[in-house]
Amino acid sequence: MAENLDLEKEKQKDLEYRKMVYEGAKSIFNAGLSQMGEGNVSVRVKKKDEMYITPSQNDYEKMTIDDVVHIKFDGTHLLSKRRASSEYLLHKAIYEARPKANCAIHCHPKHSIVMSILGLKLPLIIEEMAFFIGGEVNVSEFAQSGEEELGKKIIEAIGDTNAVFIRNHGLFVCGADMQYTVKLAMLIEKMSEIYLKCLELKDIVKVQVEGLSEDKTKKWIEMFNALNRTAPRIKKD
Ligand SMILES: [Zn+2]
Repeated sequence: MAENLDLEKEKQKDLEYRKMVYEGAKSIFNAGLSQMGEGNVSVRVKKKDEMYITPSQNDYEKMTIDDVVHIKFDGTHLLSKRRASSEYLLHKAIYEARPKANCAIHCHPKHSIVMSILGLKLPLIIEEMAFFIGGEVNVSEFAQSGEEELGKKIIEAIGDTNAVFIRNHGLFVCGADMQYTVKLAMLIEKMSEIYLKCLELKDIVKVQVEGLSEDKTKKWIEMFNALNRTAPRIKKD
C-alpha cells in the first residue's frame, strides 16, 4: 500500500516537472526566442543531481510533455523516449555552480546573437533591467557547443547576474522559477534590440549611449539580490 502511494507521488512529481519544461519551451517558442529545434529549457529536480530538459532537435510546435527528457547530471537517461541535447552540459554547469538556480533556458534569439557575435555587453539602460538581470549582460568566451568547456566559460562570464551571451552562439539565463526565467530571456532579447537600435541612431542624433550609473541602479540591484539572485554570496569574515 505504502509502495503504491510512493509510486503515485513519484508519478505526480514526474508530471509536474515535465509540465514545467513543456510550458517554458512553449513560452519561448511563442515569444519567437527559438524558431526551429534550437535551444533548450530545463528544470532541476529538487535535492537530486537530475534535471528535466527539452529533447535534442525539439519540434517546439508539436512537442508534448512525453518528449521531455529526464536525465542525471552525468548524462544517464532515466525513463525517456527521446535523447537530451548535448547542450544539457550548460544546464548542468549552472545547477552545480548555483544551488538556488532551479530553471535554465538557452536560446538563439536574433538580437542576442548579434550581441554575442559583436562581443557587446548589454549595459543597464533602463531600471527594470537591474531588478531582473542583476547587472550588465556579459559575453562569454567562445567554446564549441556540446563541450564541457562551454559550461565553464558561461560560469566565468555570468558574474553575479542571471544571464550571459554565449560568444558567437546565443543567450543563456537561469532563475529560481520558470516564470521569471522566461521573462528574463524575453527582456534581454527586447533590450538587445533596443540597444542595437540606439547604437545605430547615436551618430545621427549626436548623443552618447550609456548605461545607468551605479547610484541610479543601486536600489534595484539590492532588490535583485533579495528576490532574484541565484549566485551564491561570498561570506565575508
Ligand atoms: Zn545553442
